[in-house]
Amino acid sequence: MKFTKPRLPYMQSDLEPVISTTTIDYHYGKHEQAYIDNLNKLIEGTEYEDMALEAIIRNSEGPLFNNASQAWNHIFYFFQFSPDGLKEPSGKLSAQIIDQFGSIEEFKKKFEEAGASLFGSGWVWLSADESGKLYITQGKNAENPMTDGLRPILVFDVWEHAYYLDYQNRRAEYLHRLWDIVDWDIIGVRYGE
Ligand code: MN
Repeated sequence: MKFTKPRLPYMQSDLEPVISTTTIDYHYGKHEQAYIDNLNKLIEGTEYEDMALEAIIRNSEGPLFNNASQAWNHIFYFFQFSPDGLKEPSGKLSAQIIDQFGSIEEFKKKFEEAGASLFGSGWVWLSADESGKLYITQGKNAENPMTDGLRPILVFDVWEHAYYLDYQNRRAEYLHRLWDIVDWDIIGVRYGE
């Protein structure tokens, strides 16, 4: 099997009460494992077998795209959290957010609104272009802004499986609480600090 699920850099209980142990167990343990297993089955014996995951995402469609992108998206999502990370953006990312959105609070509000207003399953992304300009975008299902030439730096999962065990139908509350566990050191590194 080519792709494997990386071990999380924290304990399953470390993100409580924002994300419960049970949610991590199902979401990263079972959902993410299924995407990776499907991806491995779909690439076996094909031209995709020796490609990097990002290359598969940029060059596939249908079930292969869906499983490859979901495999990548979940690793990106779970690896941006930390129980004791930097709580606010800093440096050049902070300056860029304030320049484009007015304030950190205003940015967070817009990001939460984009997640709350996405109909059905998907992701809300913060990405950057080559000049460092930031973009908040909604992605349906498995969509990833890297296929539009942007570099993702932050993502919130708005599939119901991400929040239903902990927040039931209260997606907006889930989105608002996620800021408590985002590690802005990691987001800053992704932005290019
Ligand atoms: Mn998910």
